[in-house]
Amino acid sequence: MDRISILGVQFDAISKAEAVQRAMAAIRHGEKGYVVTPNSEIVYMARKDTQLKKLLNAAELVLPDGIGVVHAAKILKKPIREKVAGIEFAADMIAEMAKEGRSLFLFGAKPGVAEQAAENLKKQYPGLVITGCRDGYFKNDEEAVRDINAAGHSDVILVCLGAPKQEIFMHAHLPELNGTLLCGLGGSLDVYAGIVERAPDFYVNHGLEWFYRLKKEPWRAKRMTALPKFLLTVMKTRITGEK
Ligand code: UDP
Repeated sequence: MDRISILGVQFDAISKAEAVQRAMAAIRHGEKGYVVTPNSEIVYMARKDTQLKKLLNAAELVLPDGIGVVHAAKILKKPIREKVAGIEFAADMIAEMAKEGRSLFLFGAKPGVAEQAAENLKKQYPGLVITGCRDGYFKNDEEAVRDINAAGHSDVILVCLGAPKQEIFMHAHLPELNGTLLCGLGGSLDVYAGIVERAPDFYVNHGLEWFYRLKKEPWRAKRMTALPKFLLTVMKTRITGEK
C-alpha cells in the first residue's frame, strides 16, 4: 500500500472508508497492529524525534488527522485524498464492529469517562461488546497492561492518552496486550462520553476545527503555534527538495 511522506512521517493516502475496511480486515484476520492519526503538531514533533517518527511509521495505519496535514500534502503536491479524523474513523469502525458483534476495550481519559463513553456507545451500537474500561492515569505501564488484559481478548483497544504518550504506549506494549488492533485516539473518549463537544459541522467542513478548539480551550494556544511552524517547514522542504 502506497504511503506518502510528510516531513518523514509516512501517511496512508486512503479515504476514511478504505481505512475502516483495512481495520476490519485486520480485526477479522487477527492481525495485530496499531493505528495512529498524527496531526501537524505530532508530525512537527517527530521531525526532530527519530524514535517518535519510527514508531509512527511502524503503525498498521497512519491516518492524516487535521487540516494541517492535508494542506502540507497540497504544498508538496502529494495525493492525500481527505482528512481522516481519528474520531470519525473510529466511529465508523465501531459501527462495523457492532454489526459483527466484535469487542472493544476503552482505555484512557479521567476516571469515569471511559465508563460513560461505554454507556453511550452501547446505546448507539447495541451489537457492540464492551470488554472493559480503564482510566488513563496509572503509576506504571505494567499496571495498565495488566488491567486491560484482565478483560480477556478485545478485537480493538482504544488507547486515549493524548499524543505522543498513546503512540509510545501502543508501540511498547503491542506484543503483550490481549487485543488485535490498538487505536490511538487522543481526547475521543471525552467526546464519546459527552464531556467535550466536537466542533460544529461548519468549523469541521471549513477546516477551522483548530479555531473552534482554540476558542473553547485557549490554553491550547501554545501547542497550536506548531501549525504555522509546521507549514513553513513543509514549504521549505518543498523548495530545498529535502525529504
Ligand atoms: N490523558 C490520559 N492520561 C494522561 C494524560 C492524558 O488519559 O496521562 C487523557 C486526557 O484525559 C484526555 C486525553 O488523554 O482525555 C488527551 O486529550 P487531548 O485532546 O489533549 O489529546 P490530543 O488528541 O490533542 O492528543
